[in-house]
Amino acid sequence: MKTYFITLLFIIQVLTAAAQPKAYIAPFRHDAVGAYTLIHDDFGASYARGIEEYIDTMNYNRKLPICFAAITGQCDFRDWKKAKEMIAHGHQILNHSMTHKCGQPQSWCTFGDWNEKDFPEEIDESTDLIIKNTGKHPAFFVFPFDLFTDTMLNYLQYTKHYLGARAGKQNALNDAALKNPFLINYTVFRPEDKLPILNEMADQAIQSKSWAVRVMHGIEDESWAHITAEEYGTHLDYLQQLVKQHKLWMATLSDVVTYQYNKATASVNIAEQNSQAQATKLLIEPKKIKLPDEKLLTHHFLTVVLTQATGSPKAITQAKQNIPFELRDGKIIFDVNIIAEEITLTY
Ligand SMILES: [Zn+2]
Repeated sequence: MKTYFITLLFIIQVLTAAAQPKAYIAPFRHDAVGAYTLIHDDFGASYARGIEEYIDTMNYNRKLPICFAAITGQCDFRDWKKAKEMIAHGHQILNHSMTHKCGQPQSWCTFGDWNEKDFPEEIDESTDLIIKNTGKHPAFFVFPFDLFTDTMLNYLQYTKHYLGARAGKQNALNDAALKNPFLINYTVFRPEDKLPILNEMADQAIQSKSWAVRVMHGIEDESWAHITAEEYGTHLDYLQQLVKQHKLWMATLSDVVTYQYNKATASVNIAEQNSQAQATKLLIEPKKIKLPDEKLLTHHFLTVVLTQATGSPKAITQAKQNIPFELRDGKIIFDVNIIAEEITLTY
């Protein structure tokens, strides 16, 4: 008899625990499974006209944001006008140096190299040109030929207060959680690469719940490893489909890294629930971490996922504003602003 009661008590405990609502922060925005950033290098160069002529519009039409890395010394007034238009389309400009030289001497590099003596031109002036002509700080530096030194990284981080750089491992994905944003891993599309690997990397990001950063150059032009507009469109259609299925979050470097910082600075907790075990109040609680220059962080959003046994809310509000929410796979999914701390759910 005693065993019977203990077993019954255990079952009740398990059932009660299962009925408790749970809230957590999604690894990626909109609770996507993986994330993907597409970077097009060499904006401004005459051989990479495809970035402005095709890539901007092809992505904008599909509501996909990309990054484009500008060789600032090669941008004329038409390029700057186009850069502003691309930024208005949701794309992010990155700093790809002033003159596109090699950051370390290499036997194959016939373009000349640069070192700390050139920081005033290659980093300082290049940054200033982008800010002056577009009104935006590039936030990330991507090195020509992916050649760089620790001195360059330290200068970008501690003197110029950049948000990050593309200077991690090649052919590797990134974790969903915040790591050193100056060591972002990336994969370059090369002339010998077959087209299917473009879609395959997006699939890998989803399978391993990680963040893929793909580097390409132009299309329909003379840039290194260029492809045709048709081939590129096939890849974008595939990405768009994954985005619509909530499998992939396609975003700029700054938006992903900002999301990672937001995750590291906040946690979400259920503060109150009603008699039906439905969450009625959530609190965003700040955690102290060292933040980079906050001006470079691009948003204050985190996606919250709420699971509970019964019922979905009639409304979710934060600071008296209605928050749109989505019901997907038995989850209640919504974006919260990490600055306004309290979230109210009504049924
Ligand atoms: Zn380049």
